Amino acid sequence: MEIVKSIEVLDQYLSEARSQGKHIGLVPTMGALHAGHASLVKRSVSENDVTVVSDFVNPTQFNDKRDLQTYPRDLEADCSLLKSLGVDYVFAPSVEEMYPEPDDRQFSYPPVDTVMEGKYRPGHFNGVCQIVSKLFYIVNPDRAYFGEKDYQQIAVIKQMVKDLNLPVEIRPCPIVREEDGLALSSRNALLTPEERNLAVNISRTLFISKQYAKSHSLKETHDLVVNVLNSLEGLEVQYYEIVDGETLQPVEDWHDAASVVGCITVFCGSRPVRLIDNVHYI
Ligand code: AMP
Repeated sequence: MEIVKSIEVLDQYLSEARSQGKHIGLVPTMGALHAGHASLVKRSVSENDVTVVSDFVNPTQFNDKRDLQTYPRDLEADCSLLKSLGVDYVFAPSVEEMYPEPDDRQFSYPPVDTVMEGKYRPGHFNGVCQIVSKLFYIVNPDRAYFGEKDYQQIAVIKQMVKDLNLPVEIRPCPIVREEDGLALSSRNALLTPEERNLAVNISRTLFISKQYAKSHSLKETHDLVVNVLNSLEGLEVQYYEIVDGETLQPVEDWHDAASVVGCITVFCGSRPVRLIDNVHYI
């Protein structure tokens, strides 16, 4: 496994692989890797000849400076995990390497990027599109792997790929959870043990609501989730939206869309740590 910091060097390696007709898989990450990331990596390794994992905390997708400063980083631990998974290249550039000058490109993919995360984290998806498009141009992968934990991110990236006519196939991968149900997240490392115990209520409530939804209206199900979580001291729901799984627009009835997904963001603890999760109802 090679750890590559320079775009030019990575390009040399990948040009050679491509000239040999090898298929390239890309897994974009911000590091502080866990079993969720590992599931994407394993899939890429099994489906491609060459796997590139990018490990880069992208400043342009953080709308909150403190969130960027406190974001966990551990390149050494990441590399030993990635080596054990059979990764070929870890691309870990500096901010200057990725952004030698400010990126003033604007990406706008309504309606999927205007709701939920788009509404509560202004500029977030623009930053995601900036970095992911750069990675796609640099790596030119055949396939790129993204986790369904960031459900809306996948929808936005699919729109971007279509818009820019990029020859990459987006492969969504299921959410990996702790044994008790908490969705794995790099941000979980920021939780105190008490907050960690509290955070499990997010997935627990979503799973309970899946059962509840079978005999209750969409609004009743929505309100159950919000009320249960907000009643717990230390948790505060930022939004809970039950949306069409394709367009991400809110639906009012279970039968309004072919796929219906509940997307939640909760503030946990005193810092607080912002956690996201989602559940498929239909
Ligand atoms: P991040 O490092 O948080 O930007 O995540 C990198 C990729 O890993 C994204 O595509 C995430 O959706 C994915 N990912 C993060 N957590 C999980 C998880 N618990 N299960 C599956 N994929 C995940």
